[in-house]
Amino acid sequence: MSHLIPRAPGAVRPMVDRGEGVYLIDQSGKRYLDASGGAAVSCLGHSDPAVIAAIKAQLDRVAFAHTGFFTSEPAERLADLLIAHAPAGIDRVCLVSGGSEAMEAALKLARQYMLESGQPGRHRVIARRQSYHGTTLGALATGGNAGRRAPFAPLLAETTHIAPCYAYRGRAEGESDEAYGLRVADELETEIERLGPETVMAFVAEPVVGATLGAVPAVSGYFRRIREICDRHGVLLILDEVMCGMGRTGTLFACEQDGIAPDIVTIAKGLGADYQPVGAMLCTGRIHDAIAAGSGAFQHGHTYMGHPTAAAAALAVLTRLTRDGLVARARRMGERLEASLRAAFAEHSHIGDIRGRGLFRGLELVEDRASRRPFAPDLRVHARLKAAAFEAGLICYPMGGTVDGRAGDHVLLAPPFILEDSHVSEITDKL
Ligand code: PLP
Repeated sequence: MSHLIPRAPGAVRPMVDRGEGVYLIDQSGKRYLDASGGAAVSCLGHSDPAVIAAIKAQLDRVAFAHTGFFTSEPAERLADLLIAHAPAGIDRVCLVSGGSEAMEAALKLARQYMLESGQPGRHRVIARRQSYHGTTLGALATGGNAGRRAPFAPLLAETTHIAPCYAYRGRAEGESDEAYGLRVADELETEIERLGPETVMAFVAEPVVGATLGAVPAVSGYFRRIREICDRHGVLLILDEVMCGMGRTGTLFACEQDGIAPDIVTIAKGLGADYQPVGAMLCTGRIHDAIAAGSGAFQHGHTYMGHPTAAAAALAVLTRLTRDGLVARARRMGERLEASLRAAFAEHSHIGDIRGRGLFRGLELVEDRASRRPFAPDLRVHARLKAAAFEAGLICYPMGGTVDGRAGDHVLLAPPFILEDSHVSEITDKL
């Protein structure tokens, strides 16, 4: 019996027995529609035959060969396919084993680039309040939750946090979405100037925020302005697409919809699609080449990174996504899901917002719709909704975040892209 699986005291979780498409089935035979997609992981649904066949075929050839000594055909083909579909200018790939590791590698790469390009003073990171980028020390330092960082403060790299562009409660009276987004983007420039551009290494952000507030896209124009500011000050733009990437928002990389390309981008969850732990950090040739031609000091090595079985699974997933029209399907079905949620809940007194892109949709739960006043945190509304949905046979991903210092309750819906119309109705009915 494992005693180290993280769980809330007293929480009882059913033991999953098997998966079938968009459903998970527990040991008692109860079926759950997986509208969380395993926290935005499962893009193909459970038990996809093509991915399972690819994993089995790789295991029959070789389970593992240390990547320090060998590369493998699936790893090389995966890297090529990722580059073929990556944002403009991104043409180098480092395969890793998950999202936090991808973020860690991105931060180290940025720092090494600064050292190799004669800018050793640049070590500071700017990120956004309320953000989440993982739980390793670098990722934790970057995340915008002061409470989570506090116990580790002496160990963390220096990061400051600006407002997120989606924090509508910080908006001035009558200010439009666009004006608000640009004003908040300009806070980055103010912060870079306050810190001194010669000390700032990178700005880190998710294009569509997932982990704390449930699918909040940046307003239009925000990221174009961010890109300009980074370029003006020689600051690297690192996009965390661990949750929102791999087609979930309706384009393979979420930033495509913002019309910009980052210097470094991380992906993970949807790349393994719940079949294997795998992720990647991708960067521009400019960054890679400066490091490759430099001191040779860059280190990012883990025993299992680039694992052939994980790479075979990810290659099968990415092939399905890019060849079988599944990204366009995520866009289409996401619009249907939003329309269904709006028809059912737009006027509901406890729904403050319905938002997102593709099959990455969020509901904000509020005490009062008109003022968007949040529920008191101790009511734990998001957790109660999760429990009720579970009882009804629906898995959604509840979040109790903080909005501008005030608690908020949110529900993330991130179902597999193979979703059918009948599943959309089932989600709406069971919520
Ligand atoms: N970045 C974002 C935006 C995430 O949502 C997560 C995980 O939820 C991570 C990074 C960390 O990924 P992992 O849990 O695979 O380490």
